[in-house]
Amino acid sequence: MKKSENSRRDFIKKSATLVIGTIAASSLLNQAFASETISENNFSPLDGGKFTLPVLPYSYDALEPHIDKLTMEIHHSKHHQVYVDNLNKALQTSDASVLGSPQTFENIFDKIGKLQPALRNNAGGHYNHSLFWQLMTPAKAGVENVPTGKLGDAIKTTFNSLEEFKKQFADAAMKRFGSGWAWLIKTADGKLVITSTPNQDNPLMNLDAIEKKGTPVLALDVWEHAYYLKNQNRRADYIASFWNVVNWDTSESLFTNSK
Ligand code: MN
Repeated sequence: MKKSENSRRDFIKKSATLVIGTIAASSLLNQAFASETISENNFSPLDGGKFTLPVLPYSYDALEPHIDKLTMEIHHSKHHQVYVDNLNKALQTSDASVLGSPQTFENIFDKIGKLQPALRNNAGGHYNHSLFWQLMTPAKAGVENVPTGKLGDAIKTTFNSLEEFKKQFADAAMKRFGSGWAWLIKTADGKLVITSTPNQDNPLMNLDAIEKKGTPVLALDVWEHAYYLKNQNRRADYIASFWNVVNWDTSESLFTNSK
């Protein structure tokens, strides 16, 4: 019993490494998965497997009072679950010859323009939310939540100061009309750039509509479902709360592990 459990665990570990290895070697599109934090969570399926809802790395009430428990619970267990379910459904009805194999985010986002819109919405929705959960962490009392290390330096070099970066990121989040996301990305030439996308699009998608492409370093969901219960129409208050719970360690690892 013990032996078989161990073998199973080893198998999962090895398979996960293989998938991650394939992704890391094949192109810069999904460099995001080179991050230890993200790969451990393993929200990309094995070839031919089903996508599943990732377990949150903290409890639903852990981001209180900045992000409330009920919002987190509904956002993760209902909204995110629907993206996962619809992604799996869409994959079953996709033209296999168009998508090919493996069914990874990298492959899906690369061919997204040739696939049915359900994949754009739901692969985007699953990827974006999985990343978003990892980019938040419970606030530590009495500790200022700021980026350090190489990312902290790069933010200061690029935007002059952390305050100026936050201002410009919040501005992008505020100006996103309707539903979408605000992003800090690392472009192919290594620059930090702020951008935003509508709906569940993201900067990894191989589409002309995505103006600024690159590896996500920071992501903020600005759909009303992310804040309406606590903040109602006050998106600015939600953005201000977000800074208290940003997981700068994940962000740093996305930044340093990408090309
Ligand atoms: Mn959302």
